Amino acid sequence: MQVFERAGLLTSFIENQKKQNHSVGFVPTMGALHRGHLSLVKHALRENDLVVVSIFVNPTQFNNAADLQKYPRVPEVDLKLLREAQTDVVFLPPVKEIYPNGTQSEEIDLNGLDRHMEGQFRPGHFQGVVTVVKRFFNIVKPTRAYFGEKDYQQLQIIRHMTQLHKLNVEIVSHPVERGPGGLALSSRNELMSLQQKEEAGFIHKALQWAQKNYRDFNPRQLQEALKARFEKSNLKLEYALVSDPESLEPLEEWSQKKGARLFIAAYMGEVRLIDNVPLF
Ligand code: AMP
Repeated sequence: MQVFERAGLLTSFIENQKKQNHSVGFVPTMGALHRGHLSLVKHALRENDLVVVSIFVNPTQFNNAADLQKYPRVPEVDLKLLREAQTDVVFLPPVKEIYPNGTQSEEIDLNGLDRHMEGQFRPGHFQGVVTVVKRFFNIVKPTRAYFGEKDYQQLQIIRHMTQLHKLNVEIVSHPVERGPGGLALSSRNELMSLQQKEEAGFIHKALQWAQKNYRDFNPRQLQEALKARFEKSNLKLEYALVSDPESLEPLEEWSQKKGARLFIAAYMGEVRLIDNVPLF
């Protein structure tokens, strides 16, 4: 496994690989890796000759300095896990390498995909995400890039950015990987106690309940019913929203043509958790 810290050296290495007709799979991460990340890596390894994983805690996507500061950083453990997973290349750049002119986001048109959910509750978050992903795509020049449905809104926004800028990369999605009790795996889970993690399994139970019972409600009523269920839990619901899976606009009624996806954000103590499922 080769580890690069400098963008220029990585780009030269990749260009050399591409001259040999090798396909390049790319998995961007913020580290503190878990089985969810590693399943993206395995997915990429199945479909490409070479896999690059980046570990970079991107300052521009944090809308809260305390959140950025407490984000878990364990590069040595991550490198061991990636080596065991047979990753070919790890890109571990210092902040200056990605933001030589200060940690500011670019202004990229997100076509309203950031109007709701994470975009509403984390202002500026997605401008930070697309800024860093665009820079990474320019450095890594991947054939395919892998993103988890755990961050479904991010996935849709990256698809949009890639089309808008006519970037020559295929965006591949990967389903949400879950732990015991159904809790979506997340680096932030490590900031919870064992008991909190168990109780946070409630989010998945609520999503499953909605998948089974949504027909008894219209989207708005379903959201209200979920709100009432969360009031009896130890989690603080931030939003429960039923949206069009493509445009991410909230749905007023069920539409077989559009389908529907349910998105939840909730706090367990100080830790903010997100999850989502398709309803149909
Ligand atoms: P992060 O390190 O949180 O930025 O995540 C890096 C990538 O891994 C993103 O594409 C995430 O959507 C994906 N990911 C994180 N957790 C999961 C999970 N539980 N299941 C599937 N993909 C995930």
